[in-house]
Amino acid sequence: MTLCNVLPWIQTAHQEGYAIAALNANTLEQMQSVVLAAQAENAPVIIQVSHRALQYVGSGSTVLGLQYMAAMGKVAAASVDVPVSLHLDHADENEVLQAIALGFTSVMFDGDDLPFAENVATTKRLCAIAHSVGVCMEAEIGEVPKPDGAAYDPAAIDLTTPDDAEQFVAATGIDTLAIALGSVHGLKDKSVALDLERLQAIRKRVDLPLVLHGSSGVNDADIAQGIKLGLAKVNIATQLSKAFTGAVREVLAADNDLVDPRKYLGPGRTAQIEVVCERLRFVGASGKA
Ligand SMILES: [Zn+2]
Repeated sequence: MTLCNVLPWIQTAHQEGYAIAALNANTLEQMQSVVLAAQAENAPVIIQVSHRALQYVGSGSTVLGLQYMAAMGKVAAASVDVPVSLHLDHADENEVLQAIALGFTSVMFDGDDLPFAENVATTKRLCAIAHSVGVCMEAEIGEVPKPDGAAYDPAAIDLTTPDDAEQFVAATGIDTLAIALGSVHGLKDKSVALDLERLQAIRKRVDLPLVLHGSSGVNDADIAQGIKLGLAKVNIATQLSKAFTGAVREVLAADNDLVDPRKYLGPGRTAQIEVVCERLRFVGASGKA
């Protein structure tokens, strides 16, 4: 299929108490694993691209990275017959506009660094542009830290307040809202708990599909409970890279003479397909295409 706006599937998931998974891709093989797993599970799916993935794929140029990812995303979506969306995560204003122009079907504006009023104004403006061309718009209020391996203080995380969430949604017109419930980007172990009481309080004030960032570091029981309470898009990145790289490491460790990249990237892709299938079943998206 051609790349689609996955919002109707997210809204159905929200109503019925399951979630759609957004799976990060940094390489061609990782992108293929997302759509091949979605096809195997008959699940609607979101290929998610981060700012750093754009820089990597574009050798430092985010514009070139966007062009590569848009082209690969279109081919990946066309190779399967389940709904596939291509989402740009944590983007600034320019990147949002470039991604929309290049055919991304979903974008997240991250106005984290802006004062509330300016964040609202920019999000609202970008949201109107996205909607005029049928693109799904996500934005975030609160902070999901990106410590990138460094130490961080869990007590200092700026968690989303129900007041801010309600005001932000009403003022911007966004489709999905990313909220901070204590998760952290890039954690390799599922050790973090979510503030589920906060989620319930937000849900009482905001009737919009809510988005969990940093799920790789959150214990599965809390994610499952969070999905029942309104998290309808679950972002997954590190958990996939962990499986991919683990398989590559195993193949390389077993054969010092191996030089053909296909012989280690292929097993990486296969290992990641398995994890994506498992996550699609876990969030409840399997069979929902
Ligand atoms: Zn994120």
